[in-house]
Amino acid sequence: MEQNKDINQLDIPLAKRTYLKNPNSILLKRLLIFTPFLLLIFSMATLRLIRNLEAEPLRNLIFQFETNHDHRILGHLPYNEIHKDKLVLIEPNIEVHIDMRDSLLKMREEAKKDGIYLVFLSGYRSINLQKDIFYSLKSIRNQEAAERARVSAPPGYSEHSTGFAIDIGDATKRETDFEPEFENTNAFRWLIKNAAKFHFKLSFNKDNKYIDYEPWHWRYEGSIDALKIFERSNRRL
Ligand SMILES: [Zn+2]
Repeated sequence: MEQNKDINQLDIPLAKRTYLKNPNSILLKRLLIFTPFLLLIFSMATLRLIRNLEAEPLRNLIFQFETNHDHRILGHLPYNEIHKDKLVLIEPNIEVHIDMRDSLLKMREEAKKDGIYLVFLSGYRSINLQKDIFYSLKSIRNQEAAERARVSAPPGYSEHSTGFAIDIGDATKRETDFEPEFENTNAFRWLIKNAAKFHFKLSFNKDNKYIDYEPWHWRYEGSIDALKIFERSNRRL
């Protein structure tokens, strides 16, 4: 009978095996293996390209936002004029905020003990005086406002109107007064080493992106009022 037929005698067709030996198939296999890596490399390259393309405009945008946001004018922050009651005369033509007087005079005394003779060039300046300085010097030097602002603050934008700023010179090197060469004097070297002990800080260092380096210009940060006034400036620089 048909059903009793030995199973071995059934004619079952064997599956035909095909080996992927032709070169196209090998390439396909390799491609399949390497595709994830290729995709990764491609994505990284694309990301890098996008970042490079967008970085510059983005940085400019952030810079512009910061500039507009903190109300700078030509790189200078606005400062209110200190009330006259808070000013004291420490020597002819030099008025400063009463909070910084003791510290400033002590600093000069300590410097003297080290053989360094500090001279005070300019302390408090009213907004009106700043107006004269800014506009008269600008016209004398025939400078554009933006150019002038690198070396002098526009009226209403000077740290000097707070009474907490002081311009310092070296009594033995007066030719360096208000000059970048002041940084080569012993007075400046002494200040860099010691001013912080008296709560003074260089306002416009070489890294300032808005204003030229002013080694002679120091500000006092030894009181809460002073810290509040310069908080914005410290946040940015
Ligand atoms: Zn100054």
